[in-house]
Amino acid sequence: MLDVKKVEKIKKDLLERKKQILADFNDLSKEDLHEADNRVAKFPEYGDKPDENAQEISEYSTTVVAEKVLEKTLEEIDSTLNRIEKGTYNICKYCGGEISEKRLEARPTASSCIECKTKLQEENE
Ligand SMILES: [Zn+2]
Repeated sequence: MLDVKKVEKIKKDLLERKKQILADFNDLSKEDLHEADNRVAKFPEYGDKPDENAQEISEYSTTVVAEKVLEKTLEEIDSTLNRIEKGTYNICKYCGGEISEKRLEARPTASSCIECKTKLQEENE
């Protein structure tokens, strides 16, 4: 089982991040398109795969992509908070096994164990 204190800290971080994202959302919706171009540079880090997101940003409208990245991250944070509330935070959604602490430290919103994640990636290729 995960350390309760650790989970509390993760929860706090997630809530903090959520607040920041909601603030960014407000900024985005207020901005003109050309202003959003300058701003988007700080968003790629929110994505699952930074390289892919960076690529997308150069290919599509920057504001739309930035909003999508924020939306996805927000969804992840919400479902993670949900799992923390239900006490299933470190339980893999596919196999029901425990997600390793190391993986959760690297990616606090992970909802599957590394084994399942690897398997899924192989199937998608
Ligand atoms: Zn699993």
